[in-house]
Amino acid sequence: MKGAIQIFDRFHEIVNERVRSSLDERFCYASDASQIEGLPDFVIRPKSTEEVSRILMICNEFEIPVTARGAGTGLAGGATPVKGGVVLDMSSMNNIIEFDIENLQVIVEPGVVPEKLNRTLKSSGFFFPPDPGSSAICTIGGMISNNSSGIHCIKYGTTRNYVLDLQVVLADGRVINTGSKVLKSSVGYDLTRLFVGSEGTLGIITRAGLKIMPLPIAKRLVVASFDSAVIAGKVVIQIFSAGIIPSACEILDNTTIAVLKRCDPNLVFPNLGDIILFEVDGTDNSTAEQSYRIIEICAPLAQSIREVSSKTEMGAIWEARRLVGAAISRLDPTKTRVYAGEDVGVPIKQIPILIKKIQEISEEFDIPAMKYGHIGDGSLHVALFIDIMDPDQWERLKRAQEKIHRTAIELGGTVSSEHGVGLARAIYMRDQLGNDFLEIMQSIKRTFDPKGILNPGKLSL
Ligand SMILES: Cc1cc2nc3c(=O)[nH]c(=O)nc-3n(C[C@H](O)[C@H](O)[C@H](O)COP(=O)(O)OP(=O)(O)OC[C@H]3O[C@@H](n4cnc5c(N)ncnc54)[C@H](O)[C@@H]3O)c2cc1C
Repeated sequence: MKGAIQIFDRFHEIVNERVRSSLDERFCYASDASQIEGLPDFVIRPKSTEEVSRILMICNEFEIPVTARGAGTGLAGGATPVKGGVVLDMSSMNNIIEFDIENLQVIVEPGVVPEKLNRTLKSSGFFFPPDPGSSAICTIGGMISNNSSGIHCIKYGTTRNYVLDLQVVLADGRVINTGSKVLKSSVGYDLTRLFVGSEGTLGIITRAGLKIMPLPIAKRLVVASFDSAVIAGKVVIQIFSAGIIPSACEILDNTTIAVLKRCDPNLVFPNLGDIILFEVDGTDNSTAEQSYRIIEICAPLAQSIREVSSKTEMGAIWEARRLVGAAISRLDPTKTRVYAGEDVGVPIKQIPILIKKIQEISEEFDIPAMKYGHIGDGSLHVALFIDIMDPDQWERLKRAQEKIHRTAIELGGTVSSEHGVGLARAIYMRDQLGNDFLEIMQSIKRTFDPKGILNPGKLSL
């Protein structure tokens, strides 16, 4: 980079030794949890909004690309600095600033890890509901920027539903607040929602006011297995149509179960079929009633049904569910899971068709595809496996993922339910959203970031 030494010195004046430019440190930030790569010129670990603001003023002046990074667990290349420049590692801004339980909210810095927030909130009887599988390691800033969600989104919504206020540093260093402590407001454009899901392309989040919820008193879990994932999908629709909204509704296909059992032989899952986990929460009475009705609806179509009420077993099952992403690498030691086409979503009614089509695509390209995930909100994680040393399998994988994404769009769905667009899915933006939508996004981007320094190349911007 031209004038790199002088620019390094300018950053050094602001953050001292928390700016780095050695190759080994830069290399640590060259990718997130996807396979997309890009080497930054500088890594900076700011500790305050003021530092972020001063850094951005310099980047804006010299038109240096800036990519914010939380924990780098994103699966779409969102935090990968594909145009070089600065990676702003936000993980050191990790203070919980205020517990304001009376106002049903907390104020946090973006580097706070959600599981830590929830551990701290538990003693007050509250929680922050969005719970991605990565919640033990990802950051609130990354969750807001990707609008992440998890197993409880079906009842509790996504991160978007919990953000009341954001402090954001704009590309030119100005600092704005997008909301306040009030739970609702009808004044002005909803910039808070605009920043949620903006993947670091409009500003750097340095503080967030988040709504919290009371912890439910009771939970029950129904484990039902079915002849096929398609039948399982149909049962889910029947349950919603009967007016029952579980707090979680997850599918694990039979291959996923087999792999999980290989990791933990003590898991009490049926040996055959595809499984749905229905969790209900509320009071003792309401959970008993909902669980009874779910069993009633499943009964005519299920191979087996079991209600789990022991907290220990329930904990073990959810632990296993969280393990899936890592455990599936044990499917076949000669193959690797590649995150591609892994996050599609469709309107719930279309889920059985989506499952069927994915099975067909897997057969057509001869690529194993495990299916698991939040079936209750219409999203499905598809795990594709290949021998990554075999170019032919890479080629088939690319065609399979393309077809999975196109299928989701054709069914009125989305190429990403929760993992975000980053670079991995940028090419589908136009097809999913349309030309006019994309043009409006581009003009919003120009308003916030006229020189295009913030996370360039992402979201098709
Ligand atoms: C094993 C595993 C399981 C997962 N399970 C789920 C799941 O169940 N649900 C789900 O939704 N996701 C899941 N993910 C994906 C990922 O963990 C989430 O998207 C997570 O919220 C990303 O957080 P992060 O801190 O790692 O963000 P990063 O990957 O570091 O960044 C993500 C995006 O946010 C931007 N960003 C980060 N911080 C800021 C900031 N302060 N200001 C502006 N922009 C910022 C980055 O530029 C990037 O575009 C999973 C990932 C893994 C590896």
